[in-house]
Amino acid sequence: MKAESPVGVLVGTSEARRRAVSYSVVLSLVSLGAVAAVGWIAQNGLGWIEASGFLVFYVMASIGQGIGLHRYFSHRSFRTSQPMRVLLAVLATMSMQGSIIGWVADHRRHHAHTDNCGDLHSPHVDDHCRPLTSLSGFLHAQLGWLFADTYSDPRIYAKDLLGDSMLVFFGRTRLAWYVMSIVVLPALYGFVLGGVEHVLGAVLVGGMLRAVAFSQSILALNSIGHTIGAVRFEQGNTSRNNAVLAFLTLGEGWHNNHHRFPRNAYAGLAWYELDPLGSMISLAEKLGLCWDVVRVAQLEKSVSRSGNGTRLSHIEQTI
Ligand SMILES: [Zn+2]
Ligand SMILES: [Zn+2]
Repeated sequence: MKAESPVGVLVGTSEARRRAVSYSVVLSLVSLGAVAAVGWIAQNGLGWIEASGFLVFYVMASIGQGIGLHRYFSHRSFRTSQPMRVLLAVLATMSMQGSIIGWVADHRRHHAHTDNCGDLHSPHVDDHCRPLTSLSGFLHAQLGWLFADTYSDPRIYAKDLLGDSMLVFFGRTRLAWYVMSIVVLPALYGFVLGGVEHVLGAVLVGGMLRAVAFSQSILALNSIGHTIGAVRFEQGNTSRNNAVLAFLTLGEGWHNNHHRFPRNAYAGLAWYELDPLGSMISLAEKLGLCWDVVRVAQLEKSVSRSGNGTRLSHIEQTI
């Protein structure tokens, strides 16, 4: 298997084992917290402080993942200042998706091998290139791949970020940022708005339950986003545009559009394809907080609305 592995895919490394252990521990603890949150709601009801905390920290995680990890660090869809870069790194790490460099390497690998041998979270083929049935594929894409023994080589997929000491710092300290995301900030939120009696509810609902809901929505981009929804652009993969997923991920669910134009700062390509994260990038651009926003779609839509004449599928073209 090792000799036949696609370029940039490492098998059975200590990094892969560490990642599996890390995900197991974090997912177990946060899931227990989410169960406790459901029990807490059943007993105390859902007040506005806990409910708004859920929404506030959900949106914060969406910005960190969708704008930070995905559109900025992975696809370089815009440029920004160093302070904004640090802010995006903070939010990205607090979205609890692993290290920034690791996430970028995984994501670029997905774009480079989408639904083919080498893709790490396709619902159609596993990370050892074995075909999957619909149920096993769905489970693999949603969760199973997190515990796989293959690893995306950052020297291939994220070499532009490897020397970035700021990103290395956030990778090494990510557990502290996780605690900030699911405990410290929600506790402060509950305390400031409602006093000490709202601290526990805010941590359970705005921290734990929110983290699980958010993570499962993002992971659904791998499973549902590659099985259920509309195909605007035929491009040799199974990516879909799914309105429910787009709602839950603040725009990321227009996944077929995204695979067609990976570097585009916008996932929604029509007025009815709401893309709140894209709107935030536009607002930040108007405020002078970012610039050189990539608008590939506007350029390429005029050439062709289908086909693969200008397909962007290789790693060199996605970053
Ligand atoms: Zn995809
Ligand atoms: Zn992408």
